[in-house]
Amino acid sequence: MKRRSFLRTAGTGAVAAGTLLAGAPAIAGKRIRWKMVTTWPKNFPGLGTGANHLARRIEEMSGGRIRVKVYGAKELVPAFEVFDAVARGTAQLGHGAAYYWKGKSETAQFFSTVPFGMTAREMNGWLFHGGGMELWRELYEPFGLIPAAAGNSGVQMAGWFNKEIRSVDDLKGLKMRIPGLGGEVLRRAGGTPVSLPGGELFTSLQSGAIDATEWVNPYNDLAFGLYKAAKYYYYPGWHEPGTTLECLINRKAFEALPKDLQAIVLAACRIANEDILDEYTARNNAALRTLVEKHKVDVRPLPDDVLARLREISDEVVAEIADKDPFARKVYDSYRRFYSETKAWTDISEKAYLNARG
Ligand code: CA
Repeated sequence: MKRRSFLRTAGTGAVAAGTLLAGAPAIAGKRIRWKMVTTWPKNFPGLGTGANHLARRIEEMSGGRIRVKVYGAKELVPAFEVFDAVARGTAQLGHGAAYYWKGKSETAQFFSTVPFGMTAREMNGWLFHGGGMELWRELYEPFGLIPAAAGNSGVQMAGWFNKEIRSVDDLKGLKMRIPGLGGEVLRRAGGTPVSLPGGELFTSLQSGAIDATEWVNPYNDLAFGLYKAAKYYYYPGWHEPGTTLECLINRKAFEALPKDLQAIVLAACRIANEDILDEYTARNNAALRTLVEKHKVDVRPLPDDVLARLREISDEVVAEIADKDPFARKVYDSYRRFYSETKAWTDISEKAYLNARG
């Protein structure tokens, strides 16, 4: 049986034969079938489709040696069980964002986004050339997971509100869906943060179960029809200035791959990391126009004093995580150091240019 399988494999061409020679007969000729669970509704624009593209790219780059079947939230596991599902090997890959796993580790939130923290470009600098990725890997190691950055939202919107926000007092008693550290900031400002997967936002807002919700940006928010459930659309997304999406990889499954396929999986994630951001850059403009012109959405800036107060609270909240344990301190210090250094450069490059451009 083994011999027949070998002959059939060898007959399929140079790629399979080359793999055999490279000393990985257990893998050669066998199609590896992986599952990817996601925290997004299936095929949701930008997020779900981004996960689909990542899966297709792994298949293409591997010449079909890895096949990846993608599952939307609730298809195989609920959105917030993606981390556990990949850790235990129910699926080999997962697509989501690290702040959803703050119940496992509050430090995980640094690897998605930090209120008033780094932008997408700055996050990528920290992760790939500033020591961030090494720390992220260290954090997930005990869970049997390898993280990869696999997408970025860019600066998000502050969200959809059914009441006007004129002052800090208007945040008091506000029941809002807002994940991660931003949720804790809202709580200290007097609000009630709620954690809900994307698929439940519209009905929660429409039924009045929540007063406000943030989701992502015009492209994604239009797709959910949130304009039908709330009056005001506020900016900027102080709580999510450039959220890194993640691909979770089951360590055992990854280590069973030959080196070239390991490199392909990581390279496909690196492409997704840029491509999802690029798609948002291309699509948000038309979506914003549709929201304003067709759906008559009231787009407003948050008042300066509200933003100033939220920034003060954010600094406290983020600094407190560093006191939780020595590893949290290490991540916080690395993040802060890189942030202050990159900010000095951003101020006289991107920011100065955007101001000059007007
Ligand atoms: Ca968001």
